[in-house]
Order: sequence, then C-alpha cells, then structure tokens
Amino acid sequence: MIEDQLLFADWSAPSTVVAFSTTRQGGISAATYASLNVGAHVGDDPVHVDANRAILQRELPPNLRWQWLDQVHGTDVLEVVETGSALTADGLLTREKNLICCVQTADCLPIFVAAIDGSEIAMTHAGWKGLASGIIENTISAMKSSGKDLVVWLGPAIASCHFEVGAEVRECFLAAEASESTQDELKRCFSPAESHGKYMADLYGIARIKLSRLGISYSNVSGGTHCTYCDEDRFFSYRRDGVTGRMLNAIYIEG
Ligand SMILES: [Zn+2]
Repeated sequence: MIEDQLLFADWSAPSTVVAFSTTRQGGISAATYASLNVGAHVGDDPVHVDANRAILQRELPPNLRWQWLDQVHGTDVLEVVETGSALTADGLLTREKNLICCVQTADCLPIFVAAIDGSEIAMTHAGWKGLASGIIENTISAMKSSGKDLVVWLGPAIASCHFEVGAEVRECFLAAEASESTQDELKRCFSPAESHGKYMADLYGIARIKLSRLGISYSNVSGGTHCTYCDEDRFFSYRRDGVTGRMLNAIYIEG
C-alpha cells in the first residue's frame, strides 16, 4: 500500500486540504531511479514514469484534476483554474476543489501553503536560486489571505548537514535583503563548512525567516525535519547521486 509510504503534512490546515510528499518507495523504476520516480525529464524510461504516476493516481480520489510543472528555478507562481499540459513555472496556486498541484523535487525545498479556512492553497519548488530571488514572496503575495491566516509545511529537502555552497550563494541572499536585522538572521543560516570559503546552507531556516517576514509566524510553519541526502532509503538526492529520480509533492482541496 503506497499510502503508508507517503509523508502527509503535519500542520493545522483543515482536513479538507490534503498535502503530501512521496518517498522513492513503491514504484517500478530501476537502478538510480528506483523506484517511485515521477520525473519525466531525468532520463528514466517514460513507460516506468507513467506507471509510477498511475500508481499514485490510483491511490488518490479518481476525480482529481492533475496539474504538473516544468520547473525552471525561477520565481513565477501561476494561479490555476483549469488543468492542462505542464506549465513552465515554479509555483502553483488554486482555489478550486479537487485540483492537485504537483511539484517535483530531489533536494530542492517543496513549500506547501494553505489558508487556515481552507479556501486557497499553493505549492512551490524552491531551490536556493528561487529562494534568493523571491519565490516565497511571490507565492504569498499571490494569495488572497494575509500571512497570519496561512499555514506552511516544509517538505523533504537537503538539510544543512549536506548542502555545501560557495560564498557567492550566501552573498546573493544578503545582497537581496535590505534589512540589516534580517541579514543577520540569514547569516545564521550559513555556517562555515570544512572546506575553506564554503558554507553549509540551511534552506529550511532561510524559508522560515522569509515566511516570518511575510507575517507567517514560526509557530505556523511545520516540517523541515528531513535531509534527502542523508536518507538514501527514502529519498532521491540530486546532490548525492547526480542522475536520479524525483519525488512528488502535491496538495489539493478535497471537494
Ligand atoms: Zn544530510
């Protein structure tokens, strides 16, 4: 039963909002894609990818309308009313029922957002580039609800134990931030790495700081407990394996 292998959001959104990340377990792909790879763009056999997506679709309500993304590490967040072929963007937002917003990841941070009254949801793909250039800000400003009426779950991503970056990445975040106190907070998300001039970056911490600046208190942000690199049994990791599969991160409002 694949449902036992899904990681459901642990948050205070209403039960009509269903949000989960898949693990790599329960599919049919082989070798480096083993086994539940949903990424059609990573070199896996397309027949296997389709079969894996079908496995997930069978576990979920049959009336769900699926919207996929072609992610480009940008900052576009699109509101969807009707589903169609994959959209080029890094975030989806909807107020429609039974419309499932899909983001694929293997280390990047999947950010799930829901209005506390269940009226709207968003699903975002946030690597460091997207985080630095405003994907979180774009996602929250596209929502009608104010920050205090939103809850967020941070799905599985590469954690600071394994996300080594160059000094230019840290500079990029600091340069984009005008407030000195927020800069100081962000600095704490970059601890010096063992290799000279490198840092271990905390994507979860950066996301929490940015969300808090947008009015979403730390107590309304949950998740951020996994490291995709550390947990090879459960997660694909681009940084660890290079050529590898993708997990699905998805959210919908039950109708
Ligand atoms: Zn790790």
